[in-house]
Amino acid sequence: MKETKSPTISKYLFRHNQCLVCGQPLIYKKTPTVVSCYHCGIQNKTQTLCQEGHYVCDECARRDVYEIIISQCNKYSGLNAIELAESIMDLSKIKIHGPEHHLLVPAVMLAIWCNAKNISKEIKSELLNEARNRALKIQDGICATHGACGGSIGVGIFFSLILQVNELDKENYGYINRATANTLANIAKYGGPRCCKRSTYLAILQTRNQLVEDFGLNLPIPNKIQCQYVEKNLECTKSECLFY
Ligand SMILES: [Zn+2]
Ligand SMILES: [Zn+2]
Repeated sequence: MKETKSPTISKYLFRHNQCLVCGQPLIYKKTPTVVSCYHCGIQNKTQTLCQEGHYVCDECARRDVYEIIISQCNKYSGLNAIELAESIMDLSKIKIHGPEHHLLVPAVMLAIWCNAKNISKEIKSELLNEARNRALKIQDGICATHGACGGSIGVGIFFSLILQVNELDKENYGYINRATANTLANIAKYGGPRCCKRSTYLAILQTRNQLVEDFGLNLPIPNKIQCQYVEKNLECTKSECLFY
């Protein structure tokens, strides 16, 4: 992957609790303050700043990593969702946990769907861009703050896009909400701590199985999925996880 000189991307290897601008540790304040994003200037309230007062909005913090995901999904021409997801999760810019997984799930499945249905590259790219717009609205850590994993909501984004569902839809409204609910029920079975890799595998398998059963697509997956990210995950539940 070619590196660009954008200030956001060059800071992307900082750990979660470090400032995305200068790398200093983040400080958690008791009361929120109004701040401007270092990159785009948008104003927001936050309780988390570095000593220098830097703040990067959600959209700027994700922009480059979302570009990488979209570009990999546009390029991929196969039908194996796990293979594509792992090839993206293997990239150094994709953190072990984080909101990149909110896009990863629908983007991977849209790539598989478009490839399986011989949908044109232009429409594939449009669908991926719309998935990005929607995934950007899912906040970091939403699994714990709202009780709905962002990867599961990604399943809803995927089915909403392929079935073109709106709020007044009679036919598929139930289907897409059930797809999200089924994924959440699977994720809930394994309890915490959260693992974005486990949730991503579960969300992708749920979506792939629904495409096979309900849409008659023939989509391969590996015989066994063994998580390759155990060493990087300090909170891995090891033998309690079905992918360990
Ligand atoms: Zn800073
Ligand atoms: Zn910004």
